[in-house]
Amino acid sequence: MTSIYTEVKALPTQGKRALYIPELATVNPEKFGVFISSIDERSLGLGDYQEKFSIQSIAKVLSLCLAYSLVGEKIWDRVGVEPSGTAFNSLLQLEADNGIPRNPFINAGAMVVADVLVSELDRPKEEFLEMVRKISNNPTLNYSSTIAQSEKEVGYRNIALCHFLKSLNNIDNTPDEVLDFYFDLCSIEMTCEELTNLMLFLANNGKSVQNEHQVISVTQSKRINALMQTCGFYDESGEFAFRVGLPGKSGVGGGIIAIYPNKYAVSVWSPMLNEKGNSHKGMEFLERLTTQTQLSIF
Ligand code: GLU
Repeated sequence: MTSIYTEVKALPTQGKRALYIPELATVNPEKFGVFISSIDERSLGLGDYQEKFSIQSIAKVLSLCLAYSLVGEKIWDRVGVEPSGTAFNSLLQLEADNGIPRNPFINAGAMVVADVLVSELDRPKEEFLEMVRKISNNPTLNYSSTIAQSEKEVGYRNIALCHFLKSLNNIDNTPDEVLDFYFDLCSIEMTCEELTNLMLFLANNGKSVQNEHQVISVTQSKRINALMQTCGFYDESGEFAFRVGLPGKSGVGGGIIAIYPNKYAVSVWSPMLNEKGNSHKGMEFLERLTTQTQLSIF
């Protein structure tokens, strides 16, 4: 893994940061960290793996886990399980689909999931954070108010999406409440080490490896992994499956988490994104990792 890290680090820095969120546009483009851990907690970190970054859409996996554990299969009445083939923030399909987002990882789908949590929980922001901290025994995980605020100020497209969903009767609460929670979810910060340790439960049949807490059922874990495989990379999910061959989820902060069920979780962070919004070096690293070690699910 060290030689792959060194090779990928030496590649020219290509792509762009998430310029539409002002606070993310200032992150050092050369940052590059990776952290891998098996479910029996043998681990290795390289580069900037102890530096916090904004996990953005990766948090959508966690909010889905919480909503799924609370309301069960009913959640699929309000959000689909198909790849969208459109950008993460697209409004295009919603009207034709009568307000049912294609999957829970595009922004519209994640807003519906956020709406479920606002309805189900008395203190959604606090209880979501409590769940995330509990899974990994890590009380230091937190939202970044600077990033959330930065996105709120210019989140016109997300604001439009949420109001559009409301007009199509797929948001029960007020759009302001849902958006406020949604922007906070996306602002959670952690290091590659913290992210891998947190997400290891998805490699462990839904059970935390740190404290045996069953976060979601075995079947739910199977389904979340399947959704990450088919929908985790915006309209580049096929490309990620083709190149890397693992379920995973990316975020516009440049992070990627990938899961090998029953074996390991690995996270990568490099802020420069390709045209589809996925970390350029992150994809490159994971492709080389699974190809050279033959540790992909295919
Ligand atoms: N907060 C970002 C947005 O809503 C998340 C996008 C992402 O990471 O895919 O635009």
